[in-house]
Amino acid sequence: MAQKATCTASWSHAPGIEPLQGRHCVTDDAKNAAALAAKGAEELVDPASARAKPLPRQLPVVRGPDLPGTGAALVLAPARMINEVLYCERLMYLEFVQGEWADNVFTVDGQVVHRKVNEEVKPLRPARTAPPPESDEEVEEERPYVARSVWLSSERLGITAKIDLVEVEGGNVVPVEYKRSTRPDVPEGAYLPERAQVCAQVLLLREHGYACDSGEIYYAKDRQRVPIAMPEWLIDRTLQAAARIRELALKGELPPPLDDSPKCHGCSLVGICLPDETRALARDEEPAELEDDPSFDVGDDPWGLAVGIERPERGVRRLFPARDDKLPVYVQTQGAAIRLEGERLIVQSKGENAREARLTNTSHVALYGSVNLSTPALRTLLDRGIPVLFFSYGGWFTGQASGHDSKNVELRLAQYAATQDRERCLKLARGFVSSKISNCRTLLRRNHAKPDAIALSELKQLARKAREAEAIESLLGIEGTAARRYFAEFAGMLKGTGISEFDLEGRNRRPPRDPINALLSFTYSLLTKELTLAIRAVGLDALLGFYHQPHFGRPSLALDLMEEFRPVIADSVVIGAINTGVVKSDDFVRAAGAVALTTPARKRLILAFERRMDSLVTHPIFDYRISYRRVLEVQARLLSRVLLGELPRYPEFRIR
Ligand code: SF4
Repeated sequence: MAQKATCTASWSHAPGIEPLQGRHCVTDDAKNAAALAAKGAEELVDPASARAKPLPRQLPVVRGPDLPGTGAALVLAPARMINEVLYCERLMYLEFVQGEWADNVFTVDGQVVHRKVNEEVKPLRPARTAPPPESDEEVEEERPYVARSVWLSSERLGITAKIDLVEVEGGNVVPVEYKRSTRPDVPEGAYLPERAQVCAQVLLLREHGYACDSGEIYYAKDRQRVPIAMPEWLIDRTLQAAARIRELALKGELPPPLDDSPKCHGCSLVGICLPDETRALARDEEPAELEDDPSFDVGDDPWGLAVGIERPERGVRRLFPARDDKLPVYVQTQGAAIRLEGERLIVQSKGENAREARLTNTSHVALYGSVNLSTPALRTLLDRGIPVLFFSYGGWFTGQASGHDSKNVELRLAQYAATQDRERCLKLARGFVSSKISNCRTLLRRNHAKPDAIALSELKQLARKAREAEAIESLLGIEGTAARRYFAEFAGMLKGTGISEFDLEGRNRRPPRDPINALLSFTYSLLTKELTLAIRAVGLDALLGFYHQPHFGRPSLALDLMEEFRPVIADSVVIGAINTGVVKSDDFVRAAGAVALTTPARKRLILAFERRMDSLVTHPIFDYRISYRRVLEVQARLLSRVLLGELPRYPEFRIR
């Protein structure tokens, strides 16, 4: 199946002050630009090369504006972003301005192709300034050669590019862009975004004094090279695209998603962008008409990717996988040691056979109590973006180690601003609490042997009161009352023999004083871990909440988002574990008034929790089926859209 060809060569926000194979391009550009400005340049003739072709007309000199909110200078539009902005402005913004990135099968393929191309850096020799060669030595020097990974920048053009390959023959150079896909079946041999990317490379080569008439794209899958001509309109379109990148970045506003576009099917950022979800939620209160870019020349479904996509009634397509293929690794055997062997984690416990987990299949690693993780293993996990989460032996979530923070500074600034705004905090908190009470009520209604009508009615009223609460303090009171009412009915949801041995003295913790509270505390801790991971993946700060106030080391935002999922995920796991005999009354140890789970019982409870996280649920708003683990990430992402002002309100997850 074909897909949008994505170049994955690295690029930088930095304004290109790196030496370019022994040559400071920006310095040259700056001099050139200054000289041209000084003489009021009518035309652009490269002063360094008699054989370099002049650009056809004067191009605007680009100034480097600041990226709003970050203070980081944004001077140059990478050629790859010129490709992206012509494909989808939102995609460019997410990647270039917000620093978002996600791999899919196509980007991973693209990385492999580029790794092969770029594994050896071969410099591009300076553009020739002397007359044509005469002596044998000079002729020898003029032999064709190939330069690889050539990084060129121009402040005057406002463009930077890392060119995969430049072929040099005689006085002419040809940039070659590698794409992982097959040659598209269009008369021009390539889509506009890709041609514009090559055009940017041609312009940069010309700007640096090389004679460059055209470029080429090499399609790796069918090993075809396609020549890319440089008509005037393409140069115009390329420069307009570079200007548009700067304009969008300066505006500091995430462009709207495309409307029902087939382009989204193969977009690697679709799980971050959530195009249909965003449009559906924005429509709720704001029926703004958001148009696709009419000038884009890719057909309706150029890659045939729209075939077979289910479209639920609400019209929200599920454009990302329903569940994550990767699995968490839990290690709770005391004294166990984890080391790295090639691409595998080896877990060795005393008196047991070693267990192993492939890094490529691992989503995160959770360690309970005294477990040793070798430094090479930790470093590799962090390098691969696989978080390590630490729990006390008793199951208390104590912290995590993960790689670099998300690059989405814009989002964190929006979060910090929102936490200072009491009205916004209250609005969000009302939703979290009201939704939690409502979900508790639904759980009782569905699972209680004889649901108490008065309790259900009280919970309904408390959910409504929460929605209208005028202060966070009143919400705390409403939530407390609802919790007491709910837990008073909780035992009615337990079934089967032996349940009489499970007593529940209301909700108690630190330490739990009865088996049910021990089970609840343990699963809440697992759920906190999941929300912390989801929040971090989105780029939010888990410590800064809206309902739960900051408290030393407490993941307040995870606790906020967790409210509505406590009954739906954690309580359901506990009820299911008791009702199906996964845990029995003799699975607990009691000491000094505290109750804790035995190690084998914990293992079974973790498995039950994992099954729940992996099970599919119909999203109550979007009507498509995804795993609970995916739901948590979608909800965290939607919260981020609310904070950035794209969505008017947080869409609560309410079961029916
Ligand atoms: S999912 Fe669609 S709208 Fe979103 S960034 Fe990708 S192409 Fe653009």
